[in-house]
Amino acid sequence: MPIFNEWLDGQVGKTYFNFINGEWASGSTGETFEIFNPAKKGQVLGYFQASTEEDVNQAVQAAHQAFKSWSEEPGANRGAILMKFADLLELHSEELAFTLSAEQGKVLAESKGEIGRAVKETRFAAGEALRVEGSTYPSEVRNISTTVMHRPLGVVAAIAPWNFPIVTPIRKIAPALAYGCTVVYKPASETPWSSIRIMELLTEAGVPKGVVNLVTGGGAKVGNPLISHPLVKGISFTGSTSVGLGINEKAASLLKKTQLELGGKNPAVVLDYEDAEYVAKQIVSAAFACSGQRCTSISRVVVLKEKSEEIIQAIQKELKKIKVGPASDPESTIGPLVSEDQLNTTIDYVNIGKEEGAQLVYGGEVLTDGKFSEGYYVEPALFTGVLSDMRIASEEIFGPVLSVQEVEDAKEALRVANNVKYGLAASVFTRDLSLAYQFVNELECGMVHVNHGTASQAHVPFGGVKESGFGAFSIGKTNKDFFTEMKVAYLQY
Ligand code: NAD
Repeated sequence: MPIFNEWLDGQVGKTYFNFINGEWASGSTGETFEIFNPAKKGQVLGYFQASTEEDVNQAVQAAHQAFKSWSEEPGANRGAILMKFADLLELHSEELAFTLSAEQGKVLAESKGEIGRAVKETRFAAGEALRVEGSTYPSEVRNISTTVMHRPLGVVAAIAPWNFPIVTPIRKIAPALAYGCTVVYKPASETPWSSIRIMELLTEAGVPKGVVNLVTGGGAKVGNPLISHPLVKGISFTGSTSVGLGINEKAASLLKKTQLELGGKNPAVVLDYEDAEYVAKQIVSAAFACSGQRCTSISRVVVLKEKSEEIIQAIQKELKKIKVGPASDPESTIGPLVSEDQLNTTIDYVNIGKEEGAQLVYGGEVLTDGKFSEGYYVEPALFTGVLSDMRIASEEIFGPVLSVQEVEDAKEALRVANNVKYGLAASVFTRDLSLAYQFVNELECGMVHVNHGTASQAHVPFGGVKESGFGAFSIGKTNKDFFTEMKVAYLQY
């Protein structure tokens, strides 16, 4: 495999198409949009179809036509195809990582990690194809059996954000296929490139035509007709809370199912510990991986006053180890932000934090010298003296900004941790078993981690509460609740 930059030079500037009914198709208007390299602002990576309602309709029709046959395919066969797909992802992981890093900006190690995770989730989903269990009930009438079955939902719309362009669509497509659904997938406009390879590898694995379709284009332009289409039975959406709320409103009015994975403002509560360095490592890695552009990023440290100085120092020590830079540089540990918009949002929040009276004790500067002038780079930022009613403590920034909030005791820590509209992930650090149990029970979140950062696993349900999520948790067996619907059969014999 050539090195990253050589590979990229040979790839840039091509035009890519929608994937509908097993064919590459230009959009109905022939118009395209370009995507840029976040590490080299002016570099166009490729041109993608600016699709319209007509393209969405074609894709949904194709998925609808493919549904009967695919849903009747024995689960073992569907699972075998997914296993093959997982093998292909693994086989092509180097080149997939290049594509992913080129369009998203994350460093190669993170891209490889993301692909590895997609492989694991696909393999788990493949097994689920044979675990769609139903149940039988004792009958209240002689000679009638009563059975509850779970049938594939139908055509599913998959809509993903730009931060994990490989694992997020696969987190939707793999279970959809395992449970017998067909898919129309819309990637984020910033990162549609990896999806092209995903379609190619699904096809190579043996996914029949029409079972998975790709339509690229603007959020509302493609998203609205996709969500509203009468043949789409469910929408699996990952993205911002504001867009998710709009999708849910529309879907509810049409009685469609939704699986929504939304924003977060995830706390790490630090009560007591043996090793401050360990706690800081866990927090910094969970806060700044993917340059803080993860829904489960830790963005607040809620720490007891007596521990705060030690923890702030330990965090600063860890921050000094971060090397911001392009994915092409093996020394880089975090990449640029995905776009100018994302850089501007981050800097706006750094300024808001300063205006609100918080102390910026580390980073927060846009990096502009030398190689940095070519991309959207910012130094990871650490604020101390942050109060609950500040915007940096309550709004999702989705960038490399971490806030430290001091509290008097565990009771206040719990109140502060829960004092946001989000409820995705949380960490709590304590050696006290009863405090650990109390925080596990009372932190308002979908996923809670005791004594480690917000890292989830590939077979365990994943999701949020409050304004962080709605519908069945994704990953793991809870996907069955979204991708299937119930049918009860009474059978007289
Ligand atoms: P976004 O909501 O702007 O966009 C997400 C997707 O929705 C994109 O594909 C976009 O084109 C599409 N979209 C936009 N408007 C639409 C509409 N009207 N109808 C249908 N689709 C539409 O989010 P983003 O900026 O791409 O991603 C960042 C957000 O995603 C953050 O809030 C982050 O927390 C969230 N996120 C959540 C999870 C999770 O699992 N909870 C994971 C990753 C990201």
